[in-house]
Amino acid sequence: MISNQELADLIFKDVTDSIDDLEKRYPPRQLPEGAEVTRFAPSPTGFLHTGSLFTSMICKKVADQSNGVFYLRLEDTDTKREIQGSKFELLKQLQTFGVVPQEGYLGDKEVGNYGPYVQSQRAEIYKVAIKHLIAIGKAYPCFCSQEELNEIRQNQEAHKIMPGYYGQFAKYRFLTNEERVKLIKEGKPFVIRFKSSGSHLRKIRVKDLIRGEFDIAQNDQDIVIYKSDGLPTYHFAHVVDDHFMRTTTVIRGEEWIASLPIHVELFEAMGWQTPKYAHLPVIMKLDENGHKRKLSKRLDKEAAVSFFLEDGYLPNSLIMYLMTIANSNFEEWIFQHHFQNMEDFRFSFDKVSLEGALFDIGKLNFFSKELLALMNKCEISEAAYEYAKQYCPELKQLIERDKNYFMDIMNIEREKENPRKDYYRFSDLASSISFFYDDLYRKTLDEEPLPFNSKFNKGTIIEVLGDLKDKLPYDNVDEQTWFAALKDIALEHKFAPNNKTLKANPEQYIGLVADVAEMLRITITTRKNSPNLFYVLQVIGKERSNKRIEQVILLLQK
Ligand code: GLU
Repeated sequence: MISNQELADLIFKDVTDSIDDLEKRYPPRQLPEGAEVTRFAPSPTGFLHTGSLFTSMICKKVADQSNGVFYLRLEDTDTKREIQGSKFELLKQLQTFGVVPQEGYLGDKEVGNYGPYVQSQRAEIYKVAIKHLIAIGKAYPCFCSQEELNEIRQNQEAHKIMPGYYGQFAKYRFLTNEERVKLIKEGKPFVIRFKSSGSHLRKIRVKDLIRGEFDIAQNDQDIVIYKSDGLPTYHFAHVVDDHFMRTTTVIRGEEWIASLPIHVELFEAMGWQTPKYAHLPVIMKLDENGHKRKLSKRLDKEAAVSFFLEDGYLPNSLIMYLMTIANSNFEEWIFQHHFQNMEDFRFSFDKVSLEGALFDIGKLNFFSKELLALMNKCEISEAAYEYAKQYCPELKQLIERDKNYFMDIMNIEREKENPRKDYYRFSDLASSISFFYDDLYRKTLDEEPLPFNSKFNKGTIIEVLGDLKDKLPYDNVDEQTWFAALKDIALEHKFAPNNKTLKANPEQYIGLVADVAEMLRITITTRKNSPNLFYVLQVIGKERSNKRIEQVILLLQK
């Protein structure tokens, strides 16, 4: 009779290491009590999903706040699905968002004693584990062809039985080792399947750090753990890795809950302790009809983190915003801490709300405005320039015309107690500051009508503008004095200082001081809305401002 050990030796002739050897090579980590080892385990199959950034941010936070380790493992055993270059892109994007792993696959290098951290380079390790499972009778070679598998499935469908390769349907689990060896020697292709001892009619109790304990049907599928290409499947590979990389807590999306019974059974079959689990809620959004649905790679631009980078959001504002989704108490905390950094915030699994993972771009914009308002003129100008170099040639060109001038523009109502919160992303910047540049200002003047209030006739506007040009002070003047001068000019032209006065004597006035300020604003900026007009005039300067007034008067006279 051929023993399981002999079968294992035949299949993995060259594998001489044992599980004990691996235990010695990858010993338990020497970490302080309570330290968590977490991992982000992406597959290189495309862009970094916003949900993956959410997961990895939490993995890092949990490791950091417990003096543990956050590492990155690349799960690339599904070679057919790999997209060239995506692993580098993924890492670059994580770095941009400050979610930098301490250990693992880091793109151009690997760091740490528990590697290799790329699954396709760990084939020898998995073979040791699979050989062990065969030797203890918990795995077997399966020679089922595609046709046979189809036949099994059709048979199950016809009888309305649960589909899959399990129990009596797992035809190759019943071969004797003699039969197996014979087929192997004949060169018949095979995979290795796990020999499940579960039943989907029985339940196991699992514990999740977010959901607490719950019961879930056991696994009964004899899943493939080793493919004919010499690599294991994800389910098996990650169990081996989480064990030998000494992961303490597996943090991942809730879509993995359904596979948890398989994972738990695999850990048990190997005789290993399962890690703790935390399955994070999937990020949802409200659709046009107000219904919640998952952020979709296909439908939603905000599903890919690249969208936020291309749109010029500060990476940190997305991270902070994601933390508000992660922990309901974070928002209050970050307000109290004046949007400074969130390092001291303590994340807790108890406060992850399962319903609340709703992506709201309006709230992200709010966070972004707060963070941009905190920057000084140099910081914001530098950040805008970095963005422009990568994503916006138009803005880059404007900045490079005169960096100091650009900085003056960015400094309007900044660096004060209540800075103005104008911007939330850099992709709007080129168009929102275009009027500061004379050629672009002129272009708008030529192409678009100025939005003057039709209440006032051209003659009045021309007279008012003429006076503003001659009388408004520029040098060594503060905002109040400047405004007082504007008000005087307005009064001379019969514009009331306020609504009350206007209402009391409507026949004496033709409008309000505010109307005069608007005329000037439109003249100087071509728009009804702009940053504080006094500072805009200071940045543009007397000479150029007066030239603009002249140009508009000429235009009105036509
Ligand atoms: N490689 C899996 C993925 O792409 C990781 C699942 C896990 O974290 O266990 O989502």
